[in-house]
Formats: sequence, structure tokens, C-alpha cells
Amino acid sequence: MTQRIALITGGMGGLGETISSKMADAGYRVVVTYSRSNKTADKWVAQMKSRGYEFQAYPCDVTDYEDCRACVEQIVRSAGPVDILVNNAGITRDMTFRKMAKADWDAVIHTNLDSVFNMTKQVCDGMTERGWGRIINVSSVNGSKGAFGQTNYAAAKAGMHGFTKSLALEVARKGVTVNTISPGYIGTKMVTAIPKDILEGKIIPQIPVGRLGKPDEVAGLIIYLCSQEAAFVNGANIAINGGQHMQ
Ligand code: NDP
Repeated sequence: MTQRIALITGGMGGLGETISSKMADAGYRVVVTYSRSNKTADKWVAQMKSRGYEFQAYPCDVTDYEDCRACVEQIVRSAGPVDILVNNAGITRDMTFRKMAKADWDAVIHTNLDSVFNMTKQVCDGMTERGWGRIINVSSVNGSKGAFGQTNYAAAKAGMHGFTKSLALEVARKGVTVNTISPGYIGTKMVTAIPKDILEGKIIPQIPVGRLGKPDEVAGLIIYLCSQEAAFVNGANIAINGGQHMQ
């Protein structure tokens, strides 16, 4: 079988780097995108190369439809058609609703939700035409349970799953699955940036497993969803949160 191509948005981030490297270990040809404000992308590619990973990396602002279109066109030209899309890029701008400005709402909705449309639109028709594809949307436990100070983020992450369920219905007969994964608190810089007293005093005590999740554990779930054995998992929202929130 020819090597499948996996495109991971935000593939250099805390979770993204582990997803990218574990997917490469699993035999996929991995292409990553990074944000237009990332000034260390070349360094990252070189560092990963020294660890044995040959990643193609492209700048792409996932909030910008035209940038996504041009980026995927370039990827298809140089690497080939995208078989797997992991919509992983995301940001937080946490604050209470009272303090939240329109710009804080827009930035989070554009980056976490509009991005899913912008990227999926570029690859979905090709997947259905070829009769195989995997689209995996990285949501969050807080999209299911809500979180103080995250009206913007929780709305975007919940919206992502509405998208997943609807697109899953539309493409199911064409060999394409669409799923959401909803990680709880994973030990990446997005989470370790939370003040220590809140992390240790409030967040970890809510996690029955008693620790943060590991990026490897999230990558393992994504690799499973990409597999042939996961062909019957479609339109699901898979929680990976140490038991913090059960639906
Ligand atoms: P990071 O901040 O480390 O990574 C986020 C990535 O998103 C970065 O690589 C960044 O790219 C990319 N990104 C942000 N804005 C844009 C943009 N406009 N265009 C393109 N790329 C952009 O966070 P994590 O790795 O922790 O999070 C990854 C995903 O997992 C996010 O969607 C997050 O919401 C979700 N998640 C994370 C959890 C956690 O505990 N860490 C828990 C639940 C969900 P660059 O680095 O190039 O700037």
C-alpha cells in the first residue's frame, strides 16, 4: 500500500509535535502546518530531522480560507493528496464573559472553529473521490462540560463536534470517517501556563486518574482512529480525560 499522507495543523505545538512524531513512527508521511507568527519553524524542522523525522512544514493561517486553500494546493503538488487531516491548531483567550471583548471571542472562534471549515474544505472532496479518508477534530473536555472563563473556547470546541456529526453523515458511504476527540488536561505548554495554584489546587484534584494526561496518550488515540480497524467509528466524540468528565 502507498504511504498515506497525514496533515496536522499546528503540528509543531505541544500536542502537535507528539502527534506528528508518533504518526510518522506509525508509518504515515506527515506534513505539518504552522502559524504565520511562528519564527522558529525552520529550527523545529531541523531539530526533528536530527531526531530522524523528515517533516514537510508549511506556514498557514488556519483562520484565513484563502491561505488554507493555497497551502493545501502546495502540499498536494509537492507531497500528494491528503488522506488524513488532524484539525489540531487552537488557541485560548480565557476571561470571564463580562471582561471578554469581541476580539477575544472572534480570535478563538476563528482559530478553533472556522479553521475546521477552512481546512476540511480543501481535502474532503478528494477523500470521498478516492474512497478513503480520516478527519479528526481536536476539541476539548471543556467543549462538553463548559468551563469558567471559557465561553469563547467552549463554544468553539462544542461547535466543532456539531460539524463532526453532520459531516460524518454526509461522507460515511464514501469511506471517510469524521470524529472528534476531546482531551482533558494534557501536560503541554497550553496547560502548564495555567498558574500553579490553580493547576495543582483546582484542576488536578478534579481528575480521577490524579495527573495530567500525556501527549503520547492523545497521539495513540488519533493513530487508532486513522487505522483500518477504526473504520466503524464515525461521528464520535471520544473523551480522553482521565475520568474528569463522563457523558
Ligand atoms: P499549543 O498552543 O502548543 O499548540 C497550538 C497550535 O496551534 C500551535 O502549534 C500553533 O501554531 C497553532 N495555531 C494557533 N493559531 C494558529 C493560526 N492562526 N494558524 C495556524 N496555526 C495556529 O497547544 P496544544 O498543543 O496544547 O493544543 C493543541 C490542540 O489541542 C488545541 O486545539 C487545543 O485546544 C487542544 N486541547 C489541548 C489540551 C491540552 O491540555 N493541552 C486539552 C484539550 C484540547 P504555531 O506553534 O506555529 O504558532
